[in-house]
Amino acid sequence: MDLDFDKNHIWHPYTSTIKPLTCYPVVGAQGVHLELENGTKLIDGMSSWWSTIHGYNHPHLNQAAHDQIDKMSHVMFGGITHNPAIELCQKLVELTPSNLDKVFLADSGSVAVEVSLKMALQYWHAKGERRPKFLTLRDGYHGDTFAAMSVTDPNNSMHSLYKGFLPEHIFANSPQVGFWDEWNEADLDDFKLKLETHHQEVAAVIMEPIVQGAGGMRIYHPEFLKGVRRLCDEYGVLLILDEIATGFGRTGKLFACEHADIQPDILCVGKALTGGYMTLSAAITTKHVADTVCGGEAGCFMHGPTFMGNPLACAVGAASLELIEQGDWQAQTKEIEAQFSKELPKLLKYNHVKDVRWLGAIGVVETHISVNMEEIQAHFVEQGVWIRPFGKLIYMMPPFISTHEEVQALVDAIASALQNEYCFHI
Ligand SMILES: *Cc1c(COP(=O)(O)O)cnc(C)c1O
Repeated sequence: MDLDFDKNHIWHPYTSTIKPLTCYPVVGAQGVHLELENGTKLIDGMSSWWSTIHGYNHPHLNQAAHDQIDKMSHVMFGGITHNPAIELCQKLVELTPSNLDKVFLADSGSVAVEVSLKMALQYWHAKGERRPKFLTLRDGYHGDTFAAMSVTDPNNSMHSLYKGFLPEHIFANSPQVGFWDEWNEADLDDFKLKLETHHQEVAAVIMEPIVQGAGGMRIYHPEFLKGVRRLCDEYGVLLILDEIATGFGRTGKLFACEHADIQPDILCVGKALTGGYMTLSAAITTKHVADTVCGGEAGCFMHGPTFMGNPLACAVGAASLELIEQGDWQAQTKEIEAQFSKELPKLLKYNHVKDVRWLGAIGVVETHISVNMEEIQAHFVEQGVWIRPFGKLIYMMPPFISTHEEVQALVDAIASALQNEYCFHI
């Protein structure tokens, strides 16, 4: 592989062009394994950023892709419809919370977030109210496009760089009570205060339910989410839940909002929607929100990307949801969770470890000091696993099909990294 070309000409995510970190050449992937050019097989602990929940090269998903590409890989969605979109959306309406029944298909997670925010703005515009603000939580992550970034944690997403261009929204303190801890109603105080103060200008609350992902891998108490729903109802503000990372079983429930037994007004899904095969996302809302939006001045929702409802992506998405419907993910995520709950506390004995936490098929080790990316990445590859930490967070979200031994290999590799000083910046 021409790695020199890669190094000199290709931008990788959050990577410097001046001092690029090593990129590992992958030539294939099968089940939970990534295959490097030199033949090494790595156990994947990342599911390619939350997406490949059923593993790589899954026969059912491959078949769906082959069947569809021989019919048509793309056709415009304006004035045209097709079975892959219909089948996918039928399943989405069926599987998502019962109040949600209007599906807007989009290209990526960030775009689904943009779409959900636009829906909320158009909703209030149609009702003749000016509500230009969103209320969200610190330590959140909603994507890298501008509106998505504007509701992402201001420090993590460097709002200062874009000041004057980025819309300024309202941030409440992130939940402090952990998922497994005893609930304390005071955790909601700041959120309640912010909503009380600003509700007349707030179009919607947007947040990640139960797990704050890329903003800090924080796992919080379901009562917080319950309280948010109650307060949104009380103040007449829409609730957008971003389940792009948590959706489709990752937290042990099909959707994380089920932990709190609540329903959003708008739900964003993405990442695992196609089982990690290609990019596709959706913003799904209620009949009430959709009808209000379309009853307004514009007469429709003002959005329509070129590749909306791409048949190839929809076909694979529908096939992935068929696998979800078979239900194996429930026992699989339960077992992974049990293993994390047994194994992760053992890592607390290492000096570098500040906290460990887990939920469903998510396991997190937070360290006191930042990892040395280049070194720890090389260490993991040497150990035969693919785990990509950031900052002080070493985390796992393995494919649901991972065996006990494969998950153990991930945990053991982390334990081994924790004992090697060169893996950290000291
Ligand atoms: C990844 C992610 C996004 C953005 O999705 P992209 O497909 O990367 O644009 C938005 N919200 C959450 C919670 C995510 O984890």
